[in-house]
This record gives sequence, structure tokens and C-alpha cells, in this order.
Amino acid sequence: MARMHTNLSQLQPCCADHMHVPPVHPLAAPTPEEAAREARRIEQGALSAMIDAHVHLFPQPLFAALHRWFDAHAWNIAFRGSSEETIAHLHQNGVARMVALVFAHKEGASRTLNRYLGQLATAEPSIIGVGTVLPGEPDARGIVKEAIAVHGLRGIKLHCHVQRVAIDDPRTVEVLAACQELGVPAVVHAGREPSSAAYGVDCHAICNVKRTRRVLQQLPNLRLVVPHIGADEYGDYLRLCDEFPHLYLDTAMACADYFPDALDWTQLEQHADRVLYGTDFPIVPYEMGRERTVLARRIVDDVKFAQIAGGNAARLWGV
Ligand SMILES: [Zn+2]
Repeated sequence: MARMHTNLSQLQPCCADHMHVPPVHPLAAPTPEEAAREARRIEQGALSAMIDAHVHLFPQPLFAALHRWFDAHAWNIAFRGSSEETIAHLHQNGVARMVALVFAHKEGASRTLNRYLGQLATAEPSIIGVGTVLPGEPDARGIVKEAIAVHGLRGIKLHCHVQRVAIDDPRTVEVLAACQELGVPAVVHAGREPSSAAYGVDCHAICNVKRTRRVLQQLPNLRLVVPHIGADEYGDYLRLCDEFPHLYLDTAMACADYFPDALDWTQLEQHADRVLYGTDFPIVPYEMGRERTVLARRIVDDVKFAQIAGGNAARLWGV
């Protein structure tokens, strides 16, 4: 199938039964300028000490469930190793530190996931562990506090599609207010793509940049990371960074030249102080280094590249 130059909302109507998943195409050959930039950055070691701000580590049964869900409803996950194998693969591929995320899809799962990730992060200092809670579950605030104080996790991850809750829902705001109070960042998949009816919720109805703005107005000191540059409202989310100094966006799957091109790279580079390199590995249909290669070729300025590659993440996560 030829590469499609339509935008994601055309590709993935919210009423579709399945995500419309593009095939993995080889990256286009770099222009001479892009090839020179990439070579220079390899030479300088700029691609071998990166912070991947969006990695997933799960207990094996949960990874297996994720693989089944993705096989049925989304893309073919290329790397299917355990958490330990995932960490080793990232280290072998130029990732010095990683922000590891879990998310709970049902009530009662968060404490187990947070304990699991806390133990991994204690054993492996290159992991910045980010726990989870299901908004609205009993003792949600207590679960957040325990994740940070007991399990040593550094923030909280929520996923509006998987958890079927809007970012401005009072149950979500309760969790985010707890993060603000504790001074820890929240990572919230609040963008409307990639959507699928298989989530059992209308992703476009519960996610949009206006809802995110409302929450940021309500919680002015909350440090918030929105993954995937807020796909597919890329431009609106980048502009939102101008309004809110504590808002960050990660590049996961949005800068891998996989989904049809809708991102304005000039606008992205203008907001480089808020952009975090992230991959979503291992829940991706291509090899781990794809996103890094695209960024190394397309971000023009070396200082801005360094910010994206790890400088911003180091500041945000205090490492
Ligand atoms: Zn993810």
C-alpha cells in the first residue's frame, strides 16, 4: 500500500471498528544535509546518551495481554521481549536513561503495577519510574501518594483512551491535583489519536486541546507531559506550550515518519525547549532506533537537538 498523505482524523474516523494502521515503510533516503547532521551527531556521541521519555515496562502477563490487544486491534508489535530484555535493548541502542510508564486499565490494578515498577527502578537506576492509578477508583489519592512515597516512583501516568476518562473529568483532575500538590509530573495521553472504537469510548469526544487547556488553567503549577505531540492536534498542542510554562510534549510515534505526515517540523523546532525524545518502545511496529534517526536528520539546530534528546527530560525529571 502506498504511503498516504492524509491526516490522521481522515484515516481513523472515531466510529471505525479498528484503527487504520499504516504499513511500516522504510525511511526515505536522507538529503545530503540530513545525512551530514546525522553523521555529525553520531560522531559527537549525541545519539548514544539519550533519555527516552516514553518507554513501557509491564509484568509478563500484562505484556502478553497488550500483544493480544494490539494483534486484534492495532499494529504488529515488533519487539516482544520482557521488561528486562526491553531495558537491555534500550541500553544497547543509545538510551542512557528511560522514563518507564505503566497504566492501569481497571480498578484494583494500580498498586500491583506501581509495586512492580518501583522494584524495577530500585534495581536499575537508569529507570525513572512513573506509576499509575485509575481515576475515580477507591482511594485514588492514596494510591498516588503511595506510588511516590512508598514505591519511589517519580510521577503518574494516565491514558484517557485506555482508562475511558477525559483529562478534565473531575476524577482525573483529582489525580492531577494530587500530582501538583506532591510536586511530581503527570504524563497523560490526552490527544485524540491513535483512536479506536476497540477502546470502548469515543476518543475524539473525550480528548481535545480545549479540555487540556482547562486543566492547565485550573492547575497552574502542574508539570504535564502530553505524549505523541498531542496527536493529532500537533499545532494546537505546540501553541499551548506558549501559554503554559510547565507543559511538555513527547515525540513518541509522532516523529518516527510512520503515521502520515501532519507535523510542522519548523514549529516543533521552535518549541524544542518543551519537546522530549520518546519512543513508546516496545509497543511500536518498527525498530527502536527509527524515531532517533528521524530526529537526528530533521532537527536542524544542535542545541535544540540536545534539548530534545535529553536536556529537557533531565530538567523535568530532575536527573
Ligand atoms: Zn505509550
